[in-house]
Amino acid sequence: MNDNLAYLPLGGVGDVTRNMHLYQYKDEILIIDCGLGFADETMIGVELLIPDISYLKTAIANGKKIVGMAITHGHEDHLGALPFILPDLPSFPIYATNLTAEFSNSKLKEFGLTQRVQKVDFDGGDVRVGSFNLNFIRVTHSVPDTANIFIKTPVGNFYHGSDFKFDLTPFDGKKPDFNKISNLSKQGVICLMSDCLRAEQKGHTPTEITISSAFEKELAICKGKFVVTTYSSNIARVSQIVQAAIKFNRKVCFVGRSVIKGKEIAQDLGYLKIDKGMEIPLEQLKNYKDSNVVLIVAGSQGQENSALTRIVNGDHRDVKLNPADSVIFSADPIPGNEISVNSLVDSIARRGARVIYSDISSEFHVSGHAASDDLVMMMELTNPKKVLPIGGTYKQMVQYKELAREQGFEDKNIILIENGQEVIFTKDASVLGKKINLRNIYVDQISGEEVEGFVLRDRQKLATDGVVIIMAEIDATNGQLVSNPNVIVKGLSTQETLDINKNLVKQLKNSLSQRKQPVTNWIYLRKFIGETADKYIFRSLRKRPLILPVVIEV
Ligand SMILES: [Zn+2]
Repeated sequence: MNDNLAYLPLGGVGDVTRNMHLYQYKDEILIIDCGLGFADETMIGVELLIPDISYLKTAIANGKKIVGMAITHGHEDHLGALPFILPDLPSFPIYATNLTAEFSNSKLKEFGLTQRVQKVDFDGGDVRVGSFNLNFIRVTHSVPDTANIFIKTPVGNFYHGSDFKFDLTPFDGKKPDFNKISNLSKQGVICLMSDCLRAEQKGHTPTEITISSAFEKELAICKGKFVVTTYSSNIARVSQIVQAAIKFNRKVCFVGRSVIKGKEIAQDLGYLKIDKGMEIPLEQLKNYKDSNVVLIVAGSQGQENSALTRIVNGDHRDVKLNPADSVIFSADPIPGNEISVNSLVDSIARRGARVIYSDISSEFHVSGHAASDDLVMMMELTNPKKVLPIGGTYKQMVQYKELAREQGFEDKNIILIENGQEVIFTKDASVLGKKINLRNIYVDQISGEEVEGFVLRDRQKLATDGVVIIMAEIDATNGQLVSNPNVIVKGLSTQETLDINKNLVKQLKNSLSQRKQPVTNWIYLRKFIGETADKYIFRSLRKRPLILPVVIEV
């Protein structure tokens, strides 16, 4: 086969989070992004997912080499898995722009890891990574220093256009670098990998700048504390809130670990300026009148342990919510978080405070992703032979396909794939390569340890079908029950519990009596009792509770 480049997404294609994209040339692998995924409500007791890197480990064992990694921007779904993934791989250089590197390194330090992400300048030219040449291009998004990456390979060029929008009046004044996108693309682009999350939305995504006046309008009528919650990485938004507070002579106070950390990093880099005396630490909040403060609070997604949830539930030591206060959600719920955000909004409303959220006002948040006209503009600027939508769900990829068709792309040049599907590009063509199976890898947010699949299955069983504990005394000489076993049922209805108590013991006696012999293998006997119970309960109740047989040798 001709010289080719194989693109393989391990995460972030066909879903929105857990971004990890591989570009492979001969035995060299370039990785773009290393992000977290967020669990849904079926994944009980876990909050985080990470990309499955089994493929990478096998590739390395077979002599392939990771030549480097680039990180596009400072969001958790693009860099959050670094501390979980890096310890499992041989070391390689990692590159990112200023704030992205700073966020990554703060995370690596927090986890006690020694690897560091190297900083790349937007104007610094190419970064050479093995046979690849990377160029970081400034685009706008909802975190400063977001980059798209122009990847030159011996086969041809690729435009990695992950999360972006085209904001011509961003609050920090740093516009997308249209010149660089089009100049580099003049060298030819084989394939544009493009954000497609908002492909369903017509027109352009609105600019951020209008949000400032929305804050001012609300501040003008607020008589109590002015509480705003947003993503801690949205530094421009935080600046807008600070500016508005200054206009209304209010002091700013940051509440919650993540917003304080984000603020400190942004201040260190000079991305966030707060005049001396304008900010007050939480401990001093009590010395100020409610009408003199603006609080920037963590927890816009309704996270259980966040500062906002604690304040609303009356559990926060330093901040109490009063009816005169206003609470502004300056963030949309991430898909999957709607229920917890809604219930938090409900609790705030119940406390009598004014609460503004995305269902009643779109003035306080705009998306960080390109809508359809912006996506088309990106196709125009890069003028690729082929397009491949990433960072969206399948329905959004299909909408992107429609947009590309309207722009004259033939179907064979619009590539719709999902995670684990390799695409092999030559100079002029592309074919689908191998499809690898990817597992869901869960991590425990607190310990950072992997949660194995069976743990999750147990939790799901417990949640839907309850638990049955069987304590059986068994005579070792004949393998029979000494007395009626003690059966404890939890999480099933009274009727179901009665049924189990009445009939399960009979079933066990029956089954055991058919195999009268001295017990040689206690583990086997325990399993036998478990399976007998499982079969009976499923037959009679159509349920599969978690069954815990305890066998006592007599
Ligand atoms: Zn993002």
